Amino acid sequence: MKKVPLEGLKRFRERTRLVLAGRDPEDSYGFVNTPIVRGSTVLYQSLDAFMARKARYMYGTMGNPTLDALEVALNSMEGGAGVVVCPSGLLACTLPLLATLSSGDHLLVTDSVYRPTRNFAEGMLKRMGVEVSYYDPLIGAGIASLFRPNTKVVFTEAPGSQTFEMPDIPAIASVSHEKGALVIMDNTWATPLFFDSHAAGVDLSIQAGTKYYVGHSDVLIGTVSARTPELYKLIRTTWEQLGVIVAPEDAFLTLRGIRTMALRLKEQQAAGLEMARWLRQRPEVKRVLHPALEDDPGHAIWKRDFTGASSLFSIVLNPVPHKAVAALVDHLVLFGMGASWGGYESLVLPFDCSTYRTVTRWEPGGPTIRIHIGLEDTEDLKQDLDDGFRRMTAAI
Ligand SMILES: *Cc1c(COP(=O)(O)O)cnc(C)c1O
Repeated sequence: MKKVPLEGLKRFRERTRLVLAGRDPEDSYGFVNTPIVRGSTVLYQSLDAFMARKARYMYGTMGNPTLDALEVALNSMEGGAGVVVCPSGLLACTLPLLATLSSGDHLLVTDSVYRPTRNFAEGMLKRMGVEVSYYDPLIGAGIASLFRPNTKVVFTEAPGSQTFEMPDIPAIASVSHEKGALVIMDNTWATPLFFDSHAAGVDLSIQAGTKYYVGHSDVLIGTVSARTPELYKLIRTTWEQLGVIVAPEDAFLTLRGIRTMALRLKEQQAAGLEMARWLRQRPEVKRVLHPALEDDPGHAIWKRDFTGASSLFSIVLNPVPHKAVAALVDHLVLFGMGASWGGYESLVLPFDCSTYRTVTRWEPGGPTIRIHIGLEDTEDLKQDLDDGFRRMTAAI
């Protein structure tokens, strides 16, 4: 096996690139995988080498071979100018905001944004003198009317966190660029495999790698991909100045996750859709919020812009008392209840975003539950939910 430089990877298709990128067995004593390199100090051979700062690595906070390998693999997937890796998805959301915004700038944020990103905007960014306002995720090109002379950045996410509204990213990006603003997008739901965010005009694209990249619920990690070399330099400099660094074990496990990601996503997409369709015909369920379903309000945009769907969606139950919802979720055998997703195991998470939205109203008309479909057999998952619905009906 010969080393394939990043440029050379482009001639291969995506699944092949996921297997090849970020590996160089010649450099790893022949072993298939890039090893875990731990370290803070890097030694120099001579005074001249030290003075010239010629070494490939200078200090542990500036990167290491394990992290480099991950960056190469991520870059071949994202198709931008470069990627930085952060120790959580949340830091991957906040770092590009810190890198691009200054006191006196204005930031526009989608009202369906991942809640901790909103908390950062409301907290640290406002304290630093950044103006923050929100827009309806379905606004499309109408976002033009919300720009101020100092609007510097538009933050978007597709589909909406928990609620799955499908924004028109190309329209939002094109208006933002006309107005001279940068577009930052949280692309965690689709991953670069199902949505090419840079091609749609996104300048800085975020992944909570904790989800499908890692795939096994055992690492927190985040990534930011920059569309242009200038933006990559900006984000890399901020990363270095802040001293953001990722443990090499975590970089290794993420790289390992990426090798099987295309397969997992293909399987989970199909299982997610099967479960969504099954849930839609249940009498207990009022609505299923999943943009890949033909009758979803966001379906046309999803079909136009996305090449697939991950296995995360939500359901709205017909109104039932709290204790009936508890009877449903408290005794599920296969579905765990907890935050995060993208692992091999199925999850449920009751949610309510009516209390913190500011420019749109969230009135689903019944209790809402977010569902993540893992790699279990879907017949077993249906049985588990069927038992849950029976308990729920009995508890009304
Ligand atoms: C989970 C998640 C994050 C944050 O990732 P962590 O690694 O948990 O910090 C950011 N955005 C979205 C859409 C997420 O689902």
